[in-house]
Amino acid sequence: MSAVSHCDIAVVGGGPVGVVAALSLRDAGFSVLMIERGKAPPAFDAAHYDSRVYAIAPASAKLLDALGVWPLMAAARISPYTRMQVWERAAELGLRFDAADSGQTALGWIVEQGLILSAAWARLGSLPTRVGVDAEALLLPDDDQARAELRLSNGEILRPRLVVAADGADSPLREQVGIDATTWTYAQRAIVAQLSMSAAIPATAFQRFLPTGPLAFLPQADGRHSIVWSADTARAAELLAMDDAAFGAALGEASQYALGDVLAVSPRIAFPLRLLHAQDYHRPGLVLIGDAAHAIHPLAGQGANLGFADVARLTKTLSAARDAGRDWSSPRTLAAYSRARKAANLEMLALTDALYRGFGTALPGLRDVLGIGLEAVNKLAPVKALLAQQAVQGIR
Ligand SMILES: Cc1cc2nc3c(=O)[nH]c(=O)nc-3n(C[C@H](O)[C@H](O)[C@H](O)COP(=O)(O)OP(=O)(O)OC[C@H]3O[C@@H](n4cnc5c(N)ncnc54)[C@H](O)[C@@H]3O)c2cc1C
Repeated sequence: MSAVSHCDIAVVGGGPVGVVAALSLRDAGFSVLMIERGKAPPAFDAAHYDSRVYAIAPASAKLLDALGVWPLMAAARISPYTRMQVWERAAELGLRFDAADSGQTALGWIVEQGLILSAAWARLGSLPTRVGVDAEALLLPDDDQARAELRLSNGEILRPRLVVAADGADSPLREQVGIDATTWTYAQRAIVAQLSMSAAIPATAFQRFLPTGPLAFLPQADGRHSIVWSADTARAAELLAMDDAAFGAALGEASQYALGDVLAVSPRIAFPLRLLHAQDYHRPGLVLIGDAAHAIHPLAGQGANLGFADVARLTKTLSAARDAGRDWSSPRTLAAYSRARKAANLEMLALTDALYRGFGTALPGLRDVLGIGLEAVNKLAPVKALLAQQAVQGIR
């Protein structure tokens, strides 16, 4: 006989979006249980620097602060960036963003993935979790009154009012319930590494759009930089096959030495890239958040930020329904969340996809057809303001 556990909400996935959802919904007064099939993240180790970093937008920082995650990260290390330079042909002609122009203290913060995870997991406290346990099978209710049934690999059965799928872009739950997704792979891989530059400029992020893909330099707290170099498959294979000296030389040339020469470079890790958008974000008893609902090219550094915005909106929508005495897990409530987030997520997906196509090799010449080189955009205040708002705040 399997054990049956009850909770208001079961969050499946303890990645950055899932764990933040568990905290946010718990703090809003729901009883939450979180299931993660992998291991709990290791405690923060100051001697180790994670090559995977996120550019965290101000709205995400606000959410993480309200959940008590931000102070833990700030006590370890985070790296604000107050300026950003984006260019295509010549660094001095490109777009420049400055936090001061919009009255912000920072455009964003560079935070290691491992640090977000360890800080957020530390805030779980006594929230029930099942770690190293797979959410194997989901049976959705066939009427509004019934509960979902979630079978776990440890033999447990959960009967929550709502299952929140934060199980990543390959979302097994999305597949199980038959929600289709629009998806295509980008013919690019993103190479990440950390490096020291001879002429680093503090608190400044750089991104150059190359014909073979965008190259970003993100400032680290210790004065080094993390890079995200998205390159067409053939170019990525070349870059990965190079020894450190050749890779450093390629980086210097690709960045037009805007930060000087590369002095030292860590091992490189590469990620395949794709766009994915779920056609629906909900079914009775189930809602999708984070990469389970949408995955985007990292050129705008917005994937996790969109997921955190999903969390903020879901918490607000469910709490408002509950506080008004309505059924907070009803399809009507979930539809309100879906409508709001679909519109915002699609806008960012479309913008990043257009930037990829406009500046990449996929449709050579599109940029010229559009007639908006970055150099021109710098002179068009309203367009620049829109790009700044999307790139920096990213989420609403
Ligand atoms: C190179 C690169 C750079 C990026 N840079 C940025 C950036 O600067 N800023 C930004 O905002 N975003 C960035 N992103 C995007 C960001 O990495 C993702 O959007 C984010 O990791 C999504 O988090 P998630 O929690 O939704 O999914 P995931 O991180 O994929 O987590 C899903 C979790 O669910 C668990 N799981 C899956 N199935 C089950 C199951 N059946 N049972 C239990 N657990 C399960 C998995 O083990 C995993 O832990 C970048 C991405 C790439 C590739």
